[in-house]
Amino acid sequence: MSAFTPIEPPRVLLVRYGELALKGGNRNEFELALMRNIRAACADVAPVRVEREHGRLFVFADQRLESVARRLTQVFGISSVSPAWEAPSEPDAICAVARGVLDDALAAQPAGARPAFRVLSRRVDKRFALTSMQLDLYVAEHILRVDDPLRVELEHPELVLGIEVRETTSYVFARRIAGPGGLPVGTLGRVLCLISGGIDSPVAAWMAMKRGALCSFVTFHSHPFISDDAKDKVVELVRVLSRWQPRSRLFVAPFAEAQVAIKAAATNGSEDSYRTVLYRRMMQRVASVIAQAEDAKALVTGECMGQVASQTLENLTCIGAAASLPVLRPLIAFDKQETVDSAQRIGTFALSAVQTPDCCTLFMPRRAVTRGRLEVCEQIEARLDLPALVADCVARAERIDVA
Ligand code: ATP
Ligand code: MG
Repeated sequence: MSAFTPIEPPRVLLVRYGELALKGGNRNEFELALMRNIRAACADVAPVRVEREHGRLFVFADQRLESVARRLTQVFGISSVSPAWEAPSEPDAICAVARGVLDDALAAQPAGARPAFRVLSRRVDKRFALTSMQLDLYVAEHILRVDDPLRVELEHPELVLGIEVRETTSYVFARRIAGPGGLPVGTLGRVLCLISGGIDSPVAAWMAMKRGALCSFVTFHSHPFISDDAKDKVVELVRVLSRWQPRSRLFVAPFAEAQVAIKAAATNGSEDSYRTVLYRRMMQRVASVIAQAEDAKALVTGECMGQVASQTLENLTCIGAAASLPVLRPLIAFDKQETVDSAQRIGTFALSAVQTPDCCTLFMPRRAVTRGRLEVCEQIEARLDLPALVADCVARAERIDVA
């Protein structure tokens, strides 16, 4: 019996990106964006070379391939990743490599397992001597041994030996690591996310990124009423989110003056119950100006229908009406638990869960309006010099580049 020699570690990752194929004329642009994002994401992991061929990307790395693969699970647009071994595109050469790949995969199985197994090949080069089905059979017949701990089962395999046959080189693999799906960040243009230190807005930003938006951020900070801990927390949240896009820009907009002015203006009768809605309307105005300077096409908030008293449809309408760009609300129909689950997966939950005061809890009315009316908002705001307040807030916003 020949001594068992483990196969050399793989040097290439086969990257699949399902949804891009749907994008017709934009496909080239999408592929180029994905390649750029992959290079940027891997920059601090290992040097990589990215190539594309027939609806696949190949990421070559001579070192730390496993870490590179893990990193790619945070690159939107990727549907799955397989560490792969190369073989000359010739049936017996493929078999020789395939046996090593199978040994590697069997070694990773739990003791005593007998996984359902099949070979599944795909030919890109139709001139290859065998059809895909013939190659499946050929490889299975030539590499399987009677004592292999597996059972051949074509219908519901747990272990699939994949083969992609290309013109000169074929790729053999047994693992498929799920990617995050979505579209490459940047392909939908830029948006400006209103981010607080809460649980919701970081998840909303992440969802916008997932659908291809490059996110800039703005947070409203009421120095000196609120300590800088609140601002530092947002910087840290943006840092976590920046694992999912190449780099992020955060604007910290000073909000105390606007809040003081709103508090002073909303004094008649029950007007003070409008304060929270009025703060939010001010945020939308300032964000709209910053967004336009950033060339962002929409605002993104973590608002959700009916989650809290301030997020009734009436109040959301009043708030949205102050924006001069479309307001996207990715969490609109999420239950809180769904948002919490997402925040945990993204890695923002632990940070968001740390309690820090928020500017919206400042000068809170005794009772908050639940069915805000736009005329009332406008009546109160008519007592303010809105353009000056907005311009001042924009002018004094601090820009922080977060990597
Ligand atoms: P979050 O967890 O994101 O704070 P929330 O459910 O607590 O959301 P609110 O606090 O009512 O809701 O805020 C609604 C949305 O308004 C937030 O998701 C965010 O997009 C925006 N927002 C609220 N406060 C701020 C702030 N200080 N800076 C920037 N945006 C804010
Ligand atoms: Mg909040």
